[in-house]
Amino acid sequence: MQPQLTRRQFFKVCAAGMGTSSLGVLGFAPNAALAEVREFKLARTTETRNTCPYCSVGCGLIMYSLGDGAKNAKADIIHIEGDADHPVNRGTLCPKGAALLDFIHSPNRLKHPEVREAGSSEWKRIPWDEAFERIARHMKDDRDRNFESKNAGGVTVNRWLTTGVLAASASSNETGYITHKFVRSLGILAFDNQARV
Ligand code: SF4
Repeated sequence: MQPQLTRRQFFKVCAAGMGTSSLGVLGFAPNAALAEVREFKLARTTETRNTCPYCSVGCGLIMYSLGDGAKNAKADIIHIEGDADHPVNRGTLCPKGAALLDFIHSPNRLKHPEVREAGSSEWKRIPWDEAFERIARHMKDDRDRNFESKNAGGVTVNRWLTTGVLAASASSNETGYITHKFVRSLGILAFDNQARV
């Protein structure tokens, strides 16, 4: 049976054949040459290891960024893939993790603290220092007002039920341990995680 080729397909096949046969004459194996293509794409990038922020599986990532640290070079993440050396995922990612590049570059991504003042319908951006000050002030005031050292039966409970904390699954074990200690030492019982770990 004769395969039917369009004129464009015919030229493509001829060009590919000439290219591979010429390389073969020069001593290059086509398989080795093709295997190099992926490495070229990432060869000039900086590798940074991180953890997928989405769920409690905690898959390891490698983020590849361009920009050599020079003043006029803007660093930019251009590729993310699973970390083959990570004990959790061994290089694999689910569709959410595989789409992390879009998450990072999304125009809707929140990168700075914002506050909506009482009675306002608008969110306004504030500096990190101000955000920390405000959070600490709110926590102190609320704890002073609502901390219970004993329950109605006179039993010592040392609890603070009017404030809750939501932690993040992308933290390390050590960060999670310290966060847990901090929250419990304040007497907070409402403590959860965005991944429900
Ligand atoms: S890649 Fe998927 S399974 Fe792994 S941590 Fe991210 S969301 Fe969870």
